[in-house]
Amino acid sequence: MIDFELSKNDKKVLDALREESLIARKYARFYDENEHEFPPQQLPEAKDHPSFIRQMADRTAEDSGGSVMSTLIAMGSTWGDYSVRLRRQESGLGNSALKAAGTPEQIEKWGKLTLAMAITEPGCGSDPSQVRTTAVLDGDHWVINGEKIFVTTGCRAEGVVVWATLDRAAGRAGIKSFLIEKGTPGFIVAHKEKKLGIRADDTAAYVFEDCRIPRGNLLGGNEEIPKEGSGGFRGVMKTFNMTRPMVAALGLGMAEAALDFTRDKLREAGVEIAYDGHIITQPAAAARFIELEAEFEAAKLTMLRAAWLSDKGEPNNMEASVSKAKAGTAVRVITQGCIALLGPLGVSREHLLEKWFRDVRITDIYEGTGEIQRMIIARTLLDYTRDELN
Ligand SMILES: Cc1cc2nc3c(=O)[nH]c(=O)nc-3n(C[C@H](O)[C@H](O)[C@H](O)COP(=O)(O)OP(=O)(O)OC[C@H]3O[C@@H](n4cnc5c(N)ncnc54)[C@H](O)[C@@H]3O)c2cc1C
Repeated sequence: MIDFELSKNDKKVLDALREESLIARKYARFYDENEHEFPPQQLPEAKDHPSFIRQMADRTAEDSGGSVMSTLIAMGSTWGDYSVRLRRQESGLGNSALKAAGTPEQIEKWGKLTLAMAITEPGCGSDPSQVRTTAVLDGDHWVINGEKIFVTTGCRAEGVVVWATLDRAAGRAGIKSFLIEKGTPGFIVAHKEKKLGIRADDTAAYVFEDCRIPRGNLLGGNEEIPKEGSGGFRGVMKTFNMTRPMVAALGLGMAEAALDFTRDKLREAGVEIAYDGHIITQPAAAARFIELEAEFEAAKLTMLRAAWLSDKGEPNNMEASVSKAKAGTAVRVITQGCIALLGPLGVSREHLLEKWFRDVRITDIYEGTGEIQRMIIARTLLDYTRDELN
């Protein structure tokens, strides 16, 4: 039986996170307008804020098996601001890849670093089998050459998991991931990307020029290029089964903020939202608002289901894609709908709604666009191979 009922302790943690989030929100506009600045690792208020709340949040996520509570914690954080937090998280997408595909020795050695993940290149995004960055074995070293763009946490990260091909002719099977530490000669952080939304978030472009790394830095350690199948590719792709519900959560936190703001403003304007009333008896604004809330609840439920399956150790490949595809669309519809309901208040830079509208757009882009998620869902439902449906 699926049960999303929260314990008293979980509720306490989430309430406390809201408090933290309100503090972070005070800084949201500044870092949106000053894109080149980095929000600090800790906001000044962090020292006055009881650290037991964060410890409790971390412990609860682990105790509950992880994913369900982690998604709710992620939602609670972005409800304040996507990029500004009282205290910043110290792991990146590369840490999830390390956990999913690294050897015990690699996990031990690299797990202490914040790791970004660099797949996307100019000309290669949705179809990572087109990766052009190369890895060539030279004695006891790999030599990496190539260019990566839009790397989340790319400036702050202490290292990165980079996707590169050993042999382009081998397609997917030839792609491997490599662990590279910042400061390695030939690893250049080219610039911080300029973006529509989540502007304070640190997204970087990298260049690798004859970057030599030890042979043991191949993630998972398997150098073989299999004749059939996708080799190491599948192992690293598994990362997304854990992270896609988290992406849904990050977007839904902002959508919830937009709904809460809009509800308050509608009420201030005298619009009564009667949840037990029939739709035809509601003012048009209230009826539309309830539709947006329903959209939010539906997306949240798909997210919780994907996370719940992960906690039970059951396959959630399709559900992870459903949650991301559903949230990616829902957060756009919701924030756009809130702007439509509030008119000038919705687009004014005096408030954060216009920012949330820009910030949520990323939900449907990174870690596989909405179109790619729908293709994964269709393949699973129809039992098609990648070659039969691409
Ligand atoms: C803020 C931000 C952070 C990011 N962080 C990271 C990161 O940390 N690491 C990383 O590696 N990348 C990251 N990315 C890159 C992101 O994952 C890619 O932008 C995304 O995968 C899409 O790739 P693309 O931009 O090359 O678009 P393309 O692959 O060129 O796609 C363009 C359009 O075509 C559609 N499309 C493509 N193929 C198909 C198909 N077969 N059927 C139907 N439609 C299709 C896509 O959905 C999209 O709408 C980030 C991007 C942004 C904006």
